[in-house]
Formats: sequence, C-alpha cells, structure tokens
Amino acid sequence: PVADLVAKQSRIIESGWTGSNERTFISVKPDGVQRRLVGEIVHRFERKGFKLVGMKLLQASAEQLREHYRDLSEKPFYSSLVKYMSSGPIVVMAWQGHDVVKSARKMLGETNPADSLPGTIRGDFCVEVSRNVVHGSDSVESAQREISLWFEHHELLCWEECSQPWIYA
Ligand code: ADP
Repeated sequence: PVADLVAKQSRIIESGWTGSNERTFISVKPDGVQRRLVGEIVHRFERKGFKLVGMKLLQASAEQLREHYRDLSEKPFYSSLVKYMSSGPIVVMAWQGHDVVKSARKMLGETNPADSLPGTIRGDFCVEVSRNVVHGSDSVESAQREISLWFEHHELLCWEECSQPWIYA
C-alpha cells in the first residue's frame, strides 16, 4: 500500500519544483517532539524566509519508515533507526523556497551532531547521531519522494505570502 501511495503521488506531483517553488521535506524526530523543539525548529525556517506548505503530527508506521529509509536498509543501524523513529509522534513538514533543499541541510547541520557547528539545529540541540532531532531531504529528488510518501496531495497548500516581495527581489 505504501508503494501504491508513492506511485500515485509521484504522478500527481509534477516537475515544477524549481526556483522559488523548490520544496523540501523536514521532520522533527520523536526526540525533538519529546524535547519540545517543534516550535524552535519551525521558528528557524520561518525566520529564514521559507514558506510552510504542509505540516502534521503523526505516529509513523514501521512500514512507512522502512520505505522512507530504504536506501539505508543494509546499514547496521537500520532496525534501531526504524525503532527510534517509531518510538513516539513525529512532526512532518514541507517547506518551500529558493534552494530550500540545500539551505535546510545547512540549517540542520551534519548527520553527527558532534560535526555540526553551533548555530545549526543539530549543533545546538543534540549530542548523539542516533538522537539527532531532525530530518531533512538530501536532494530535490529525495524531497519529492519523501513529500509524496508522507503527504496526500490535498495536504500541501499553495498560498500567497505577504512578505514574499521582501524576501525575493
Ligand atoms: P541524514 O539524516 O543526515 O541525511 P543519513 O541519511 O546518513 O543522514 O542517516 C539517516 C539517519 O540515520 C540519521 O539522521 C541518524 O538518525 C541515523 N544514523 C546515521 N548514521 C548512524 C549511525 N552510525 N548510528 C546510528 N544512527 C545513525
């Protein structure tokens, strides 16, 4: 069923994800939700100038998580990663803006919090790689796949932001 969903969504979502319409998938992991970091993380993306186009709180199923992390299925930490990610609610978000995929990865920091500079989310709020608080897509293609996996088409909104002319020339 998850594979069907991805196939269906991929057909719906066209290839117009360029320029200021680029989108990325960000999620606050169970540790981030438990540690009350949702507001902080949303705040950083809002202040940066990106546009929130989808957001929900949910309990991820192991099936969805195995699909989400399918490229890591051979890694020794794969099953503990799926367990960690299903250990409590997560917040999934879609953010839109110019170069949002690349910028979001910079805002998150490195995979290992110890390699993340202060000022990044992982640099400021966590210690261990297996409790690194937040996820962000690593490419435009991953973003399309992940947004399709976690959102229905009607849950993603196109809306006009009044601050747009002050963010884009
Ligand atoms: P990123 O989330 O930065 O894109 P990866 O895709 O490589 O990084 O890994 C996905 C997630 O798997 C990481 O965010 C982290 O939660 C977990 N992870 C990565 N490497 C390890 C590791 N060596 N031990 C435990 N968990 C890890």
